[in-house]
Amino acid sequence: MADTLDGTVALVTGASSGIGEATAIELARRGAKVAIAARRQDRLTDLAARIDEAGGEALVLETDVTVEAEARAAVASAVEHFGRLDTVVANAGVMLLGPVVDAPAEEWERMIDLNLKGLLHTTHAALPHLLAAADGGPRRVADLVLVSSVAGRVARNGNGVYSLTKHGVGAFGESLRQEVTKRHVRVALVEPGAVATELTDHLRDEVREASMSRFADMERMEAEDIADAIGYIVTRPRRVAVNELLIRPTEQEG
Ligand code: NDP
Repeated sequence: MADTLDGTVALVTGASSGIGEATAIELARRGAKVAIAARRQDRLTDLAARIDEAGGEALVLETDVTVEAEARAAVASAVEHFGRLDTVVANAGVMLLGPVVDAPAEEWERMIDLNLKGLLHTTHAALPHLLAAADGGPRRVADLVLVSSVAGRVARNGNGVYSLTKHGVGAFGESLRQEVTKRHVRVALVEPGAVATELTDHLRDEVREASMSRFADMERMEAEDIADAIGYIVTRPRRVAVNELLIRPTEQEG
């Protein structure tokens, strides 16, 4: 069972674009049935059709994970539909950069609500099922992958609250890892550098240029590169837990 997810079920949040979308495809390619959660149902439906065409199985879950009841319902629906839950990729996130001075506080709320509270809601609802999968499932191990960022390691001028949320994900993940690892639920932190996705579309015009100038001449990673890393993490033998994976574009210095 080392390199296959046959017979397992995965839930990916933020699956309607970017890293989450690529990860859902990758986990399905490796044999998992995938529950795909995000707010844009049309994008999820299109993704599910592509997964089905490739011989996989996908369940569309229109979900706003910032609403605790919706995150819980997504987990419950995945378990009800597929009968179990072995892998969760808590990926949904938003990056609203810019100076702290005069920042719209609403942007801070959005990042805290999604990057922290959305991830907590998803994790809390999923944990009993992951513990059950590790106890009695075919692989006798389960995986929770938390998508953080290089910003979860390094704070920079202009990324204060985004970095705060991603540092929080790292702290929470490490604490939870220690809590559940002896029960064979592996908690992995993935910390990407710059990836070409829709993430920067949400930046205010006045901060986009300044924020992105660092990456102007750089070949960024593709979402598939991160999906490949996540696929690696969740297919290790039961005795191996990848705890943390920092992955940058080759040309990204810091
Ligand atoms: P995208 O903007 O392409 O993807 C973000 C995903 O989150 C979308 O599917 C979006 O779907 C979903 N989402 C947003 N709000 C909610 C919500 N309330 N409930 C459920 N889902 C939601 O960006 P990426 O793929 O790049 O981002 C994925 C993760 O990777 C994020 O956590 C980000 O911080 C992290 N990351 C990205 C990097 C990059 O350079 N791109 C670098 C480091 C980390 P919808 O709008 O349909 O709800």
